[in-house]
Amino acid sequence: MQRLDDSLHPFKTTTVLVVEDEPITRTIIANYLDGFCHVAVVANAEEALQYCSLTPPDLILSDVLMREMDGLELCRQLKTMPDVSHIPLIFITSLSEDVEEQACWEAGCVDYVVKPVNAITLTNRVKTHLTLKLQTDFLKQQSLLDGLTRVYNRHWLEDAVQRLIRQSSRECSSFCLAMFDVDWFKKYNDHFGHLQGDQCLREVAKALKKALLRPSDAVVRYGGEEFICLLPDTDIEGAECVVNRIKDAVCKLELAHPESPFGIVTLSGGLSQLDNSDLENWEAWLKRTDELLYKAKATGRNRVCIASVRN
Ligand code: GH3
Ligand code: MG
Ligand code: MG
Ligand code: MG
Repeated sequence: MQRLDDSLHPFKTTTVLVVEDEPITRTIIANYLDGFCHVAVVANAEEALQYCSLTPPDLILSDVLMREMDGLELCRQLKTMPDVSHIPLIFITSLSEDVEEQACWEAGCVDYVVKPVNAITLTNRVKTHLTLKLQTDFLKQQSLLDGLTRVYNRHWLEDAVQRLIRQSSRECSSFCLAMFDVDWFKKYNDHFGHLQGDQCLREVAKALKKALLRPSDAVVRYGGEEFICLLPDTDIEGAECVVNRIKDAVCKLELAHPESPFGIVTLSGGLSQLDNSDLENWEAWLKRTDELLYKAKATGRNRVCIASVRN
């Protein structure tokens, strides 16, 4: 992730959320942090929960004693929210008894700063935890990408597909899955060697990514020369346009393939839509799509077979 490489000003794209019910303390803390990261401020725990669910920040600084919901309960609730639970939270508090401090750690904070807040202590603790957060995000992101093509890997797919299926079921929206396989790729390797084979896969992956226009669409390297495209909130007619665009985009690369009857690198594909019967067992959906891909291979390659509508 670029954020880590930005060594001159590593925190400029990070956001720290300050949760504090005292207006003066809120302003003082925000002023201390102003200039080296984005600072967002909210006046209570309910606003903090809402803020975090909409735009998860990189770090949360929270007061403990607040009216209605206190900081401890806020922290506990944040730890149950899937896209938020990993965000580090530092308590800022005037509580000083051991038992009170222990309650903060048990609620799930990563650090603890006492009031009145010392600017040096606060900014350095914030820097330390933002650095750790950026490093963790970076490593997590790397672990989800394929090393050769830089599209998502199967590890990402397993997790993402379940999440997207749940979302599609909740919103009653269509969800399509396409599987592609490079035609005659063994012969390509045999002809040009594996290094050029690798370069070919990089270019195919790049063309796939470029042909997907929505931010919610995703490309995954499923196996050697097999790719999967996830198309959430897309019906089969819309997905048909997308898969044809992908197939044409790879043809337009005009990567010479002397051993193929087409003379260039081409793709075969299968496309199908999520069915209610797949909700508990997404592998059945994958298998259906794979069978369509197999059919595309068996009926001449350089084509996409589409579920039910056309088959
Ligand atoms: P088909 O049209 O039926 O798909 O034929 P194919 O030759 O593409 O299919 P096959 O499954 O027989 O061969 C796939 C080839 O993909 C074999 C393997 O050497 C190659 N391959 C798999 N992963 C990589 C990789 O990371 N780099 C390179 N260069 N080649 C790879
Ligand atoms: Mg307070
Ligand atoms: Mg294959
Ligand atoms: Mg192949």
